[in-house]
Parts: sequence; C-alpha cells; structure tokens
Amino acid sequence: MYVKGVGPARAQVFESKGLRTAEDILGYAPFRYEDRSNVKTIKSLAPGEMATVLARVHSARPSKIAQRMALFEVFFTDSAGYKLTGKWFHGGYLANVFVPGMQVALFGKVEVDNYSGGVQMMHPEYEVIPEDEEQETALHTGRIVPVYEGGSGRVVTPRIVRSIINRVLAEMAPIDDSLPAAIRERLKLTDYWRSIQALHFPEPGTDLRTLNAFRSPAHWRLIFEEFFWLECGLALKRIEARKERGIQFELTDNVREKIKAMLPFKPTSAQKRVLAEIAKDMASPYPMHRLLQGDVGSGKTLVAAEAAIIAMENGYQAALLAPTEILAQQHYFTIRRLFEKIGYLTVMLTGSSTAREKQHAKKLIAGGMVPMIVGTHALLEEDVEFAKLGLVIIDEQHRFGVMQRLRLREKGAMPDVLVMTATPIPRTLALTAYGDLDTSIIDELPPGRKPIKTNNIMEQAADSVWEFVRAQITEGRQAYVVCPVIEESETQTMKAAEKEYEHLRAQVFPNLSVGLLHGRLKPDEKEAVMARFQSGEIQILVSTTVIEVGVDVANATVMVIQQAERFGLAQLHQLRGRVGRGAHESYCVLVTGKLSDQGRERIRTMTESNDGFYIAEMDLKLRGPGEFFGTKQSGMPALRIANIIRDREILEVARSEAWSFVENPPSEAELNSILNYLAEHWQRRYGLVQVA
Ligand code: ADP
Ligand code: MG
Repeated sequence: MYVKGVGPARAQVFESKGLRTAEDILGYAPFRYEDRSNVKTIKSLAPGEMATVLARVHSARPSKIAQRMALFEVFFTDSAGYKLTGKWFHGGYLANVFVPGMQVALFGKVEVDNYSGGVQMMHPEYEVIPEDEEQETALHTGRIVPVYEGGSGRVVTPRIVRSIINRVLAEMAPIDDSLPAAIRERLKLTDYWRSIQALHFPEPGTDLRTLNAFRSPAHWRLIFEEFFWLECGLALKRIEARKERGIQFELTDNVREKIKAMLPFKPTSAQKRVLAEIAKDMASPYPMHRLLQGDVGSGKTLVAAEAAIIAMENGYQAALLAPTEILAQQHYFTIRRLFEKIGYLTVMLTGSSTAREKQHAKKLIAGGMVPMIVGTHALLEEDVEFAKLGLVIIDEQHRFGVMQRLRLREKGAMPDVLVMTATPIPRTLALTAYGDLDTSIIDELPPGRKPIKTNNIMEQAADSVWEFVRAQITEGRQAYVVCPVIEESETQTMKAAEKEYEHLRAQVFPNLSVGLLHGRLKPDEKEAVMARFQSGEIQILVSTTVIEVGVDVANATVMVIQQAERFGLAQLHQLRGRVGRGAHESYCVLVTGKLSDQGRERIRTMTESNDGFYIAEMDLKLRGPGEFFGTKQSGMPALRIANIIRDREILEVARSEAWSFVENPPSEAELNSILNYLAEHWQRRYGLVQVA
C-alpha cells in the first residue's frame, strides 16, 4: 500500500495495531466523536455552551491557586486579540506540549473564569495544528470529528490518523459490498462504502450520542458484518466437521447397565439431559465436537465418566486431558474409584511420572490394555500411542489452545471430543470463541447444596477469621486457607505459603493439624497431603492456588482466601467452589487489604452471588474479552470494530443470519462467493477459522 503521509515510522505504528492495507486502515474505527461544528471566535463565546475555538498559545504555567491539585494554566489568544484560559488539574506534563506561538484547536465547555472574569475551559480537548497543515483545518473542526486512538506519542496522533483516512477515502476506488444481497435488503443495511465514509466522517446533523454509542446505521452495519463473517467461518467449520465420518457408538443395554452400576448417586435432571445430548452425538456417524458447561460443583466429572463408559463398552479407549498435574491426579482418583467397581482399569500419565512409570503407562495404552487414560499435556507427546482412542475429554479451564485440542484428536481415528469448562463462559464468548462447538449446559446443582455464605473481612480483622475457623473445626469440619501467587515467582509464592503455614501451625492453631500444599512439592508428596486432607487427618490445609480446580473434599466447609483482591473473579469462584460440596453449611471468607475500584467490584460480586454464569458475565465486563481467557491461544478472535460486551444483540442477529445462510445458501454460487471472501480476507484475522 502507498498512502501519502505514511512513512516507515508511521507504518510501523499502524502495523502494531494490525493495520497493513489501506482497507485495514479504513476499518480502524474512531473510539469516539466530537461535535466541533460550533466553531467560534473567543469574543462570541457564551458560558455554558460546547464550542470549538482556534487560538494560539500565549503562555503556560503552573497556577498559583489550587497548587495542591497541581492546576496548570495555559493562556490562549485568537487573531482578534481576545483571551481564553485553559485549565488542567495535574496538568504539569502540558508544559512540554504547549509552546508559545503554537496554533491549536480547543474544544470544550465555555465557563466564566471566576478569578479574571474572562472565559475559560476546564480540561478542554485540544489538537495542535501544525503550520503546514493549516489548510486542512476544515477536516478537523467545523464538523463532527472522529477521534482515534493514536500510538507512540507524536508519531501517530489522532489528527494524523484522521488526515490519512481522509486521504485514503479520497484516493481509493469504492470497495464493493460483499454481504449477501438478500440479507442486506432484509435488514436494510447501509451500503459498505457509505458506511465506511460515515464511520469516519459522519454527515452533518448525525446524532452524536448514537455515534458515540456505536449505533449509527454505519456502525450497526460494520459491526454486524464483522460478526457475520466470523460466524460464517464457524458455521462452515462445523459443516465441514459433519462431513467427517466418526465412530458410531452403540448404546446397548450393556452400556446402560454399566452406567447404572457405576453411578454413586442419582444424577440430576440436568446431568441426565446433558448425557442424552452427548450420547446422541456419540451414536451419530459424525465426530462429536461438544462443549460441556456447568457451574463449579455441578457434576461435570460424573457426566464425563458416563460418556467414557459408552466408549469403553464399545471397545474403545477414552482419554481425559487435564490442564494441571494436581487436577489430573484428582480426576484420576475420582475416576479410578468410579470404574474400579465396574471392572475398568484406569491409568495416569503426567509430566512428572517417573521414566519407568511413563514407559509402563505407554505400553498399556499402546497395547490397548487400559481403556481409561487420565493425564496432562504429557498425553500429547509424540511417543504416546493409543491402541483405539474413541473419546477425548478435555477439561480445559480455558487453558488448552485449539491446536492442542486437535493434537489429541489426531491420536485416534476421528474420536469424539468433549470439552469441559471449569467455570461457565458468558454466552457471547461461547458463541465466538467456541462458536463451532455444540453446547450442553448443566444448569442445576446436585440436591441438598446450600448456597455458600461469603464475607469480606479486612486484613486487620483476620483474628476473627481464625476464631471462626476454630469453631468450625470443633464441629468436625475442615478448612482451606489459600495464599495468592506472587508475581509469577514460584519460589516467592511457595515462601509466602510456607510462612502462613508456619504462622498458623505454631501461633494460631498449635493444637490442630495444619497441612501445606504448593506447586513445588513432588507429585507423591502432593498426593500424600491431599490424601491426608481427604481422610480428615489434616484439619486446615494451607495452600496456593494449586487447589483451584477439581479438589473435592465434602467435609471442608471454610475457604479463607488471603489477599483476595489479587485474584480474578473466575479464580475466586473456582476457589470458593472447593467448599459447599457436602450437606453442611459452608463459608467463604475473602480477606482483603487495600482495594482498587475494580477490586472492590470483584469482591462485591462474590459476596453478592453464587451464580457462576452471573459471575462470568461480570468478569467479562470488568476485564474485557482479551483478559477473560488469560491466554493468547484461547481461540478468541481479534475483533476490530465489534465488541462482544457492547454489541451482544448484534452478535445474536449476525449469528442467526450467518448460520441460516451457510446451512441453507440461496445458491451454490453465493455460498462459493462467501467461501472465497472468507479465504481471502478473514483467514488472516481469524486464523483459527480454517475454512475448507
Ligand atoms: P464440577 O467438575 O462440575 O465442578 P464435580 O464433578 O467435581 O463438579 O462434582 C462436584 C461434587 O458433586 C462431587 O463431589 C460429586 O461427587 C458430586 N455430585 C455430582 N453429581 C451428583 C449428583 N447427581 N448427586 C449428588 N452429588 C453429586
Ligand atoms: Mg470438575
């Protein structure tokens, strides 16, 4: 691309935002708009109005008044010699921005300056107007003006982006609309090129609030389009998957009987419904790609075990892949116990198994001697071969990337795949990041569960927490005390947990049995500690977040989380989910230090709700989609103008349009043109959407 004004330095800034072609740049949406149509001379300004003024800097200095607030004053004059003061609290940095003589456009609310009696603007928006660009002034004032996020200081200012986009729009031939005509007509969508023009330079009189809410017709259409292509990609991916031939498992009486014999309790109706959905997939000729969602403690493991029985009774192996060592271990214990009584062998393979254990396990797996395999990433290694892998269950806690999912799948001949999430995923994220998977939701907890009572205690009042813990232990219950992970340093984390452990063991609970669990322990040491906690021998378990997922001790009723403000919502909810697993009333105590606004919101959300789906929505709102999964690999596509939080309702429309278009295309030709368009334009951005 050659665009006047984009030299190497600026090109680099654009590149860093993922903008490489002229079309990319046109898709770069302003993050807000300002109505600068009201351009005035200083003399004609009226207090209370929003106005734009062109003026020159006369002088700038820290104010003598309001020094504590570091008030900074800049004095401007216009060509007629009238004066205007701009004031900024904590504006010291502006000393380097405003140079006497420089021309600027100021935009803000006009007020009377109580000290001088003249006019002032508090914290006006400003744009420096370089002398050689004066002729472009009409682009930047006197109209509704788009404001872009710049980058890297002066190299690319919002003003520069505006000029460049203006130039690209003027020089480029209009781009054709690529959305299917029928959809455009039915939804009365604005034409693509007109939308792009209106996105950057809205017509005079466009409602500013609608623009800033991203709901002008141009916005709606462009957001719709982005979601539409994404969902088309996902729909095509699923259709492709349905063309594959998978294993057609038989649901025989033997299967039913084995499941019945395995069940330690009556499944909830949600578990039954979800199993029926899974069984239907497994019995069908195409490979299952299903996402199993359910709140913490809703009993996903049991459903996974039932699905495994279907595979095993049909003579296939089932593998369960867990994201962490300790979770793999926990699954292994649970599943081994469930399967022992019905005569199925289970083997575990993790990174920390000894060489001999590994070799032994691999031999059993390759020889088809064990039907059930539980493990971590180690299962993905090349030398792990399965005799007859029929079902892959991934307990992913959002930690496995799509590639890893595929890798395990490739170890079988088109095995069925069931992905379980440890915490619920908000619907909008599920529709995008996991949009190609079918979804099952366990929306019910096992009977007899009482909501966990959650309290927030200030760190200074921690003594009262220990009193409470002691009372629960006296009643025969057990407790967890969780310490946060420290700045990615495992050593520091371990030391903090050790310190807490020493303190509680020696000072606070000298007569009780306190245990310690952290990531640095060897697997058999971890196993031993967990076994002692499980048996009730350890009454208080001090731990790092290694217990976050999967740990299941029904007699534990207290979860104390130290420095709870340092955890994310999903993590807090997971941790809390370690209690409330039995018939006893359970408690979660969030011990906090100084709280940021966001921290306070998180803690409030936790004390207010036990509902994982609600908490997930809050988490998404507070952190945004990028952070929600915490990993780059998560499969979350990079959206440009669309925002899954703000634009949820457009996503729903786009999804239903895209899926019905792909499933019932008006003609082969139209479907092919969609395929071509996706292959050309969207592969690069949605690399995960491998079309055809
Ligand atoms: P999840 O993995 O969904 O967080 P688990 O599978 O660990 O939940 O189950 C949580 C707890 O509930 C376990 O102790 C499990 O044995 C128990 N459980 C599961 N299903 C039922 C049920 N239908 N009735 C009673 N208890 C159940
Ligand atoms: Mg689980």
